[in-house]
Amino acid sequence: MARCVVKFGGSNFKTAGDMTKILKAVRLYDEPPVIVVSAFYGITNELIAVMDSAAQDETEIQRMTDRLKTMKRESLETHIDNPIAREAVYAQLRSRLDDLSRVLLGTHYIGEIPPFVRDRILSFGERLSSLIVAAVLEYHGIPAIERLPEDIGLITDGEEGNAAVDFTASEKSVADGLPADKVCVIPGFYGISPDGRITLLGRGGSDYSAASIARCITAEALDVWKDVDGYLSADPKSVENTRRIARLGYSEAAELSYFGAHILHPRTVEPLEDRSIPVRIFNIDNIGDKLTPLSIIGPDAEAPKGPKSVTYTDDFAVLTLAGAGVGIKPGILAKVTGALDRSGINIKSVVTSQTAINIYLDEADLDRTDELVRSLDVAAVSHVIPRRDLSVVALVGDGLGEAPEVAEGMMESLNKRGIRFTIFSIGASDAAAYAVIPRSQREEAVRSLHNRFFS
Ligand code: ASP
Ligand code: MG
Repeated sequence: MARCVVKFGGSNFKTAGDMTKILKAVRLYDEPPVIVVSAFYGITNELIAVMDSAAQDETEIQRMTDRLKTMKRESLETHIDNPIAREAVYAQLRSRLDDLSRVLLGTHYIGEIPPFVRDRILSFGERLSSLIVAAVLEYHGIPAIERLPEDIGLITDGEEGNAAVDFTASEKSVADGLPADKVCVIPGFYGISPDGRITLLGRGGSDYSAASIARCITAEALDVWKDVDGYLSADPKSVENTRRIARLGYSEAAELSYFGAHILHPRTVEPLEDRSIPVRIFNIDNIGDKLTPLSIIGPDAEAPKGPKSVTYTDDFAVLTLAGAGVGIKPGILAKVTGALDRSGINIKSVVTSQTAINIYLDEADLDRTDELVRSLDVAAVSHVIPRRDLSVVALVGDGLGEAPEVAEGMMESLNKRGIRFTIFSIGASDAAAYAVIPRSQREEAVRSLHNRFFS
């Protein structure tokens, strides 16, 4: 049996005691797995906050590193009871935290945070986790070493903040850099640019790190440990009697992430699909005594067809560019999207008609985009209309693009409850259909669609 890549995310590192569960999970593997870890729960957000406030207030740096020291010390005290062994790991952690302090102090003095420094600062959360996990495993009799992306040559395209892995450059060195006789623990969330700098793989990117490493070593599977019961037919916080989805295709998993299901990062399946490496989802709060996946993601053709899940995202807004001729005037879209690209604004989708171009955005980008588009002063555009307080509800399942009765069913069930959708789309991908609705009606929409398709 080939090696598995195992990902433990922030939700597996909420309390000092959580590592006990990780130890238990790791012992279930016959071959020493490659483990990819995220930062402890909430730490990346705290690093972002301290980075921003350190520019004004130097004392924030000390406060943050003290807090991290206390937190890590607690973990070590819980899991390494021999004081000498514990001190040795703590000394390594302290030296990493000293490095973090120095970088933060540097930004305080120069008064700005260049993107490559930002990436380096945010990577510390993961690098503290990997050090601790490797040390705790080793102490508990599971031979383990920490391997950093810079040690194994996980090379990216160099884009700061949101890089992609360069597989041609990485594949061989990563495979060669991971000794087979030990558990290798790798910090997720970053790789190394061609010129040797730390580049982040985007927020939530350790899933993508783990998938990339799984590709490089042609892993048996990518095993993602969560604190929920795998993929469900809806968010159990909104809907009662959800069903578990035992098997999904890669496209379905990608669409579910895109439309807001927080199980995996949207890019996770990208490196795995053409190698047919499955992703298996487990619940760390329900480990059991053998590896029994709750959901398995694999080749589309092997997953059953039809509706799988109702999902939604509130992180959504629309900017409408209206004008009598926007639909036929060439070049408008290129001008607008080019400007957004240069400002680092991500466009989620574009829907056009003769008199309007609708740009789908993260809500946080709406005001900035509105301003930018107005400043472009595009001749054919007579009105720029920001639309907020919207949600997207999506039905995901392979084959939906070719099943008009599904769209009909969705519209009917929304209409019945008086939910006014402003945009409806089917066929953009074969695996999803969605409606844009008022956010105030989102809960009701999710429940009614779940009821219609899954009860
Ligand atoms: N710690 C990083 C984040 O919060 C990466 C990850 O958790 O996957 O975005
Ligand atoms: Mg995550």
